[in-house]
Amino acid sequence: MTTAQDVSVKRSSKAGSLRRYLERVIHNEGPMSVADFMASALHHPLYGYYSKRDPLGRGGDFTTAPEVSQMFGELIGVWCVQSWRHMGAPDPFILAELGPGRATLLADLLRAAKVEPGFLSAARIHLVELNDTLKEKQRRTLSDIAALGDINVEWHDHFHDLPAGPLLLIANEFFDCLPIRQFVRTARGWCERCIDINREGGFRFVVAPDPLASDRLIPSAVRGAAQGSLVEIGAAAMALMTDIALRLRHDPGRALIIDYGHQQSAVGDTLQAVKNHAYHDVLSDPGEVDVTAHVDFDALRRAALAQHVTVTGPISQGDFFTALGIHARAESLAKNATALEKTDIASALKRLCAPDQMGALFKVLAISSPGLAAPPAMGAHSQGVLLGTHDRS
Ligand code: SAH
Repeated sequence: MTTAQDVSVKRSSKAGSLRRYLERVIHNEGPMSVADFMASALHHPLYGYYSKRDPLGRGGDFTTAPEVSQMFGELIGVWCVQSWRHMGAPDPFILAELGPGRATLLADLLRAAKVEPGFLSAARIHLVELNDTLKEKQRRTLSDIAALGDINVEWHDHFHDLPAGPLLLIANEFFDCLPIRQFVRTARGWCERCIDINREGGFRFVVAPDPLASDRLIPSAVRGAAQGSLVEIGAAAMALMTDIALRLRHDPGRALIIDYGHQQSAVGDTLQAVKNHAYHDVLSDPGEVDVTAHVDFDALRRAALAQHVTVTGPISQGDFFTALGIHARAESLAKNATALEKTDIASALKRLCAPDQMGALFKVLAISSPGLAAPPAMGAHSQGVLLGTHDRS
């Protein structure tokens, strides 16, 4: 049934609409968890940040590593080909990506994988994406490289919709979008941090009056933290990791997860919002800004290990790409490049690998089926692999 209130919501501006929707929910149901706020802010079907727009690139709100340089996707392509060999070169196998953005990473990966034609002909591509605008961009990006042969792509809403079979799974900057809960240590115990409405009509953080009945949810490393400490629980990320690990326990395969985050569970508020390549207030423009949180790789590791799969890493993005041979790749690309392109290649290399840029904050985690050889570039003796000098064209 459409109420008068719904009609006024539909008529109002997009930002206003989500704001009013959230205000109504809080008005009716009381303060909302950070996880519910994030889920609506990002994925409300009509007004959520990711419901329709393409947030990537210079004209958007943020730039991801595959958009910085073709080297990122190419070297992941090399990693995938080697991993596929470790799996016994299954034909067919599922090559899947969670949240592929513009499919730039996948296009570069497939182009680099030309070195192993068997890989390309065996790959069945499956993408997990909710955003229709990005799905259309993914379709276009991948049809541009159709010269590689018939690339059949299928889209799904959720990881668990992927078909059965051997699996290689990639996720770059996907886990940071998954809703987190926050808890504050009070004299009463761990209480959930929630979002309420201000007297003036804006949103504000509050702390729920009742503590958690049990501390089980709080990682043991931080359970004894001082009063006032805040801890984040990536419940959705851990649930997804459990699903991925369960799958890899039964179907041979490997997952590669790259994201910004921390190696050890720790206290601290990492909830952040970004708009136009700058930080923004988390609460002031829901639906118009990208709201994310740092990934707790320790929690992901624990969730995967509980399913008895092999977990490697996390290691830093800088170490991973260095071990995969990014310096040699940059040199080889620079050989045929103009002076301007050479500068771009050098600055992309720095952006991806330097510790004060993406090199240290971003981490790489691999989850493998039991018994698979160690993942490429993630052990002490990993070797880089040289690619040809082809470019994106
Ligand atoms: N991996 C890409 C894009 C990262 S942005 C890159 O590195 O460039 C996050 C991506 O995940 C977008 O494609 C977004 O639409 C998608 N996404 C975010 N949350 C999602 C969810 N819950 N289910 C499916 N896709 C999601």
